[in-house]
Parts: sequence; C-alpha cells; structure tokens
Amino acid sequence: MKSYDVAVIGSGPGGYVAAIRCAQLGMKTAIIEKYSTLGGTCLNVGCIPSKALLSSSHHYEEATKHFEEHGIEIPGEIKVNLEKMIARKQAVVDQTTGGIDFLMKKNNIDVYEGLGAFKDATHITIEGKDAGEIEAKNTIIATGSKPSNLPFISIDKERIITSTEALKLKEVPKHLMIIGGGVIGLELGQVYRRLGAEVTVIEYMDRILPTMDAGLSKELNKVFKKAKCSMMVSHKVQSVERNGDEVVVKAENKKGEVVEFKGDYCLVSVGRRPYTDGLNAEAAGVKLNDRGQVEVNEHLQTNVSNIYAIGDVVKGAMLAHKAEEEGVFVAETLAGQKPHIDYNLIPGVVYTWPEVAAVGKTEEELKEAGTEYKVGQFPFRALGRARASGDIDGFVKILADKTTDEVLGVHMIGARCADLIAEAVTAMEFRASAEDISRYSHAHPTFAEAVKEAALAATDDRALHV
Ligand code: FAD
Repeated sequence: MKSYDVAVIGSGPGGYVAAIRCAQLGMKTAIIEKYSTLGGTCLNVGCIPSKALLSSSHHYEEATKHFEEHGIEIPGEIKVNLEKMIARKQAVVDQTTGGIDFLMKKNNIDVYEGLGAFKDATHITIEGKDAGEIEAKNTIIATGSKPSNLPFISIDKERIITSTEALKLKEVPKHLMIIGGGVIGLELGQVYRRLGAEVTVIEYMDRILPTMDAGLSKELNKVFKKAKCSMMVSHKVQSVERNGDEVVVKAENKKGEVVEFKGDYCLVSVGRRPYTDGLNAEAAGVKLNDRGQVEVNEHLQTNVSNIYAIGDVVKGAMLAHKAEEEGVFVAETLAGQKPHIDYNLIPGVVYTWPEVAAVGKTEEELKEAGTEYKVGQFPFRALGRARASGDIDGFVKILADKTTDEVLGVHMIGARCADLIAEAVTAMEFRASAEDISRYSHAHPTFAEAVKEAALAATDDRALHV
C-alpha cells in the first residue's frame, strides 16, 4: 500500500491548490478525484464554462446591438450557432482541466481516479478506475458542493434544470424561468437573454443579490429590466410542474396571491449544498454539522486532528478563490507555518455586464454594527474611458470609517469591476485610508480612475470629475 504525508480528496480549486502547495513544501502528496477530469465544479461546470458562455454571448450582443454605433456594419444577418458556442466552451474547459493534469505531474503529485472513502483516520479506499487503498498521515477533505433544490421540485435535468445542464443546452430557451436571483441564476440568465430567450427571475427575497450591498442590487436590477427581463422579487415559489415541453411555476407574491409563470425551461439556482456523499466521514470519526458541512476550527482542522477540510464543504462563502486560500492555508499549517486568511477581504464578484464586485462591509452591515462611516461614490459615466468604450453604467462606492478614514468596504458595478476589485482588496489588506487611495496615481484613461475618484469623494467630497 502506498503511503503519503498528505492525501487530498477532491480536485476542485481547493483540493488541487492544496495539493500543489503541499508538494511545494516537500510533502509526499496524493489527490483523489471521482471524475475523470480534474478541476472540480469550478473548472468543469462552474466558474470557467459560465465565463466562457458569458463572453460568447457578450460578443453576440455587442455585434447585434452596439457595433453599429461604433461604425461597424455587418452585411447580412448575425446568427447564434449554439452548438458551436457550447463546443467552444467545452474546449476552454478541456484545455483548463488539462492544465491541472500538467500541474499535478510537474509537482510529482500522484493522482487517483475514483471515489475516495475513509476506512479510518489514516486509510482511504478508492473505488473506480484506480481502485485500491492508500495510507495518509494527513488528509484534506475538499469534496466541494452540489446544486441544492427545494424539497417539492423534481429536477429532471431536461426542462427543470440546474446550472450544470444550463451550461450545455441544445437550444436557446423561448422562455427561461429562473428560480433564485443570486449570482449563478443572474449570470446564466444574462447569457440566455442575450441569445434571445425571454427571461423571468423569481426571487424569494425583496431584492436580487440579497447578500450584497443594496445599491448594487438596485443598479443590476435596473440593467436586467432594461434588457426586458421580468424581475419578480418577493415571490415564494410553491410548485414547479412539467407538462410535456412546458414548465409551470407557481409562486406566491407579497399580497398572498398565487402567480403562474409558464415557460419551456426552468433553472433552479437556489444555492449549493456541501457534498460528502460516499466519503464515509463517520469511519474516520469526522463530524458534520446540521447543515451537512464538515465542522472545522479556526485552523480548518476537523475534530480528528490529522484531518482538515476546505472550500465549499466547510462554512463560509462558496467561492473558488476562498477555497484556494484555504488550500494554501492548510498546506502551510501542515508544514509548521503560521498562515493567515482574512475572510472579510475575500471579494465577491458577479460576472454579468456590467460586472458587480465587492469586498469588506456593506452599508447594511456597518449600520447594524453601529459603525460611523462616510460614503464616496463615483459614476462610471463621468469617466472618459467609460464613454470611449460605451460602458457608462454603474459606479464605485467606498465606505470609510468616519473618524479614521480607514476603508471598510468597497462596492462597485460597472465594466471590468471583477478586476478593479483587486485594488480595493490590496488597499484594505494594507489598511489604507480613503485618502491613501486618492493620493496615488491611476493611469488615464482607465476604469480604475473611478476607484481614485470615489476615494477622493470619500476623503472630503473632493472628487474632481463630478
Ligand atoms: P469543488 O470545485 O466542488 O470540487 C470538489 C471535487 O471533489 C469535485 O471534483 C468532486 O467530484 C470531488 N469529490 C467529491 N467527493 C469525492 C470523493 N469522495 N472522492 C473523490 N472525489 C470527490 N466561484 C467563483 O469564485 N467565481 C465564479 O465565477 C464562480 N462561478 C460559478 C458558476 C457556477 C455555474 C457554479 C456552479 C459555481 C461557481 N463558482 C464560482 C463556485 C465555485 O465553483 C466553487 O466555490 C468552487 O468550485 C469550490 O471549490 P472546492 O474545491 O471546494 O470544490
């Protein structure tokens, strides 16, 4: 039986990054993945394929709606070839997961294909292509998550679907109904709206993106409405039934009335649940909590001292970069280092267009905590760069402590915000004040100037271009 310093179960961004860092630090490392491709949800059916489809559909929208204003004329009709678009997405996924195979080889990590299950706290059995058993001094559980569902919905994966099926549809829906106005529902909703589907978003809470700053929800809601999506907030779904090719969704509105929606596809995007099926955690004595997450302490260690858990299967934001940070954290902990993660500084991003991104506290959270703060906000439309490219929607909002001027939260919606948020994270990591940001140079003309201007606005209402 082969013996390892560390075995990682699950090869998503948490697991494969943990394995690489363990190997870099000199540990003999194995990774076990039940599917034939590495990369987990993120690379196979999450971050990467959704961004590929968002990019393709964005090009289509640009070509059909915006080329003309730029003086670009295309003779003849511009058409979507969905089969080709999905095939391109798959090629991007294949190339990316292939890259992980390369990284495993480069770092001398042994890859086992099969379902990993604990036999006890130091032995793991593998069922599948590489069936067998390995011994591991330490194990990192990185088994991720699966789409969750409402108890009364039966997902048939044809017409009543999850994000996994929505990434490989064979036709553009005529009317796509989306249950859940969170990140995944909105991103996929925008893809199919751009491709010509009628889209209805049905959200239980009183706004889309309910965990983000309310200003961002409001602005993105406006963008979706402008694109003629029906945004049904404060609607509690009661039933989803399929009759042939038609799906009927019934939901109760604020007034207690039952409203009926009919369409040809219904995407259920009501969140994700931690995944430990088949792991046999109890054989190792590892405790799960009542939400099905693997219980961990502040070192991401389970109740069994040589077993750790990271990523979507533990508490916290279900995000690829959070899982990656945790993978590095556990590897460095095992190597005797003292790593650190500031969970307040894990940014959240929605890759719609305009993009939405945030880090730190929201206004709602600051109010609740009784923190006195000031706000500096700057609209993209006031920037030369935004007008040059025609991306004028949105704003950057900086929240700073009223007394110390320390930046407490940055919330933005607009072009390229997914990348711009990195500046806010850096500034907050080094505990910058709003004035600090306002005093270093930002290249002109760039979208990043909105960050500087918002910082100026937060400092002393000193924005220069509004
Ligand atoms: P996962 O990526 O879920 O990987 C877990 C792996 O473990 C899987 O490959 C699974 O097969 C394997 N596994 C499970 N049990 C076993 C077992 N017993 N034995 C062997 N293998 C096992 N996040 C972002 O940050 N940005 C985004 O843009 C983004 N977009 C998304 C879009 C969609 C449509 C979806 C669904 C998710 C998106 N996410 C995004 C979330 C992101 O994918 C997850 O947060 C991330 O993948 C979690 O990583 P992980 O390593 O914890 O688990």
